[in-house]
Amino acid sequence: MADNTTTDNTAPKGLNFVEQIVFDDLAAGKNGGRLNTRFPPEPNGYLHIGHVKAFCMDFGVAEKFGGTCNLRFDDTNPVKEDVEYVDSIREDIRWMGFDWGDREYYASDYFPQLYDLAKRLIKEGKAYVDDQSSEEIAAQKGSPTVPGQESPYRNRTPEENLDLFERMNAGEFEEGSRVLRAKIDMASPNMHFRDPIMYRIIKTPHHRTGTTWKVYPMYDFAHGQSDYFEGVTHSICTLEFEVHRPLYEYFVKELADESYCPRQIEFNRLNLTYTVMSKRKLLQLVKENLVNGWDDPRMPTVCGMRRRGYTPQSIRNFIDAIGYTKYEALNSVSLLEHAVREDLNKIATRAMAVLNPVKVVIDNYPEGKVETVTMENNPEQEGSGTHEMPFSREIYIEREDFMENPPKKFFRLAPGNEVRLKGAYIIKCESVEKDENGNITTIHCTYDPETRSGLPGAARKVKGTLHWVSAQHAVDAEVRLYDRLFNVENPSAEADRDFRDLLNPDSLKVVQNVKVEPFIADNARRGEKFQFQRIGYFTPDYDSTPDHLVFNRTIALKDSWEKAKDK
Ligand code: ATP
Ligand code: MG
Repeated sequence: MADNTTTDNTAPKGLNFVEQIVFDDLAAGKNGGRLNTRFPPEPNGYLHIGHVKAFCMDFGVAEKFGGTCNLRFDDTNPVKEDVEYVDSIREDIRWMGFDWGDREYYASDYFPQLYDLAKRLIKEGKAYVDDQSSEEIAAQKGSPTVPGQESPYRNRTPEENLDLFERMNAGEFEEGSRVLRAKIDMASPNMHFRDPIMYRIIKTPHHRTGTTWKVYPMYDFAHGQSDYFEGVTHSICTLEFEVHRPLYEYFVKELADESYCPRQIEFNRLNLTYTVMSKRKLLQLVKENLVNGWDDPRMPTVCGMRRRGYTPQSIRNFIDAIGYTKYEALNSVSLLEHAVREDLNKIATRAMAVLNPVKVVIDNYPEGKVETVTMENNPEQEGSGTHEMPFSREIYIEREDFMENPPKKFFRLAPGNEVRLKGAYIIKCESVEKDENGNITTIHCTYDPETRSGLPGAARKVKGTLHWVSAQHAVDAEVRLYDRLFNVENPSAEADRDFRDLLNPDSLKVVQNVKVEPFIADNARRGEKFQFQRIGYFTPDYDSTPDHLVFNRTIALKDSWEKAKDK
């Protein structure tokens, strides 16, 4: 050993409270110095950004302190679960940049051990079969201040209980007719100790175990033991499980000893403004076609965010920024959007597209002539190179960039005004053509041939610079503009209103006949990230084909929503 003989037990700076606990446990040599976490999704829906907060912690803390993290599918309810969800969960975690190697487990793998443990508890007089309905059981629960009532079946003999439990699993009894309960304490101040249900009868086949089992363990009986069977040392979950912790510990003690015992730690869930995060509600949006599937770009799901063009890095940056605490909070979705913008600003390729085109004819530019101008791909990224863009006599600009009777300080195009076409010439508006309704159909301009970059007049200053595309070279595209899915800041807090009535009717706006420069069309591959200059960040949608280009607006350049609120 080196001359430094003392172990350095000083925690690294900036640990959050979960990391601090893990650090202290490792320093104290608990569990033989092992660190093993797990992420335990139930495969009954797609992962959302709340789950991301959870697995960034599970995988993140393991990475930080040299441990491992298991992916465990908590598949204890065959009624709601499906392999479709298993596959999507795997894909989404990988996309976020985490890897569980060969440590993929299923709670259903532990059904035999759990069943054996249940039988042991029955034999030891610690569990009994209750023939009452779930309503009757609930009615006897009492309240935190009023003790519950004991079930009339509570004092069955172990032999009778064992026989009934085995017959429950053999399929002899109907769903809901009997349950197995832990015999703990109907007067406990902790409601979860009032003879919690351990097993119920379910006859729906399971996506992995088929019809082998007719009894299925409840969360509280499955989770801690699954942790134990897997060797999990730190079982990190959200605050609502804090009240379950004594029960977690109660069941785990039936298995564990001093040499190894899993420990549950709780942190605050992620809640986002203008968003619902409940899987039940998200499923409802999908099932009722209120959105276009789990990966609708307006959904807070990982696949939705991916389709919309969010990057894994931006999501992780957001999760880092909000942190982990013991206090419930509602986080602003603007913070997430800010993180998305920041990351895309670094990586997105700059290009030109005109969303609401009006034609400009440059009358003194030679007919049939085409020049190419060179555009920087990304001034924020060294080595990102340039691309060429055609310039010709007829171009499109944004309708909003022209005003016939502009107010003062309108520095875009107007009669007699000069603007620079980004990367190309300075043009001046000479006249407009209108249709019979007075709508402008064509803007006539002249250009100053000396003002192209590299020429003497290039330095000439004008106040406005516009994006544009060459009319004959432009490619048509469809663009989908997204706004927040809900109209109210905290949809889940509106207890007296159906959350579906709180949907924002303008959350999706489809724009056709968008004109994009050829470079965009040539590079419209899935996953590509563009900044359409002066408009926002865009990515090709999955629906996009070479014959019908479709782009999602990931996010506008600026937070227009926040600005609108300030007014
Ligand atoms: P449910 O159990 O109602 O189906 P769930 O969202 O809890 O929904 P799980 O699959 O059980 O779904 O979640 C897996 C893990 O993700 C759990 O450890 C849970 O605590 C965590 N998690 C779920 N929602 C959030 C959230 N909004 N913020 C942080 N963690 C979350
Ligand atoms: Mg859950």
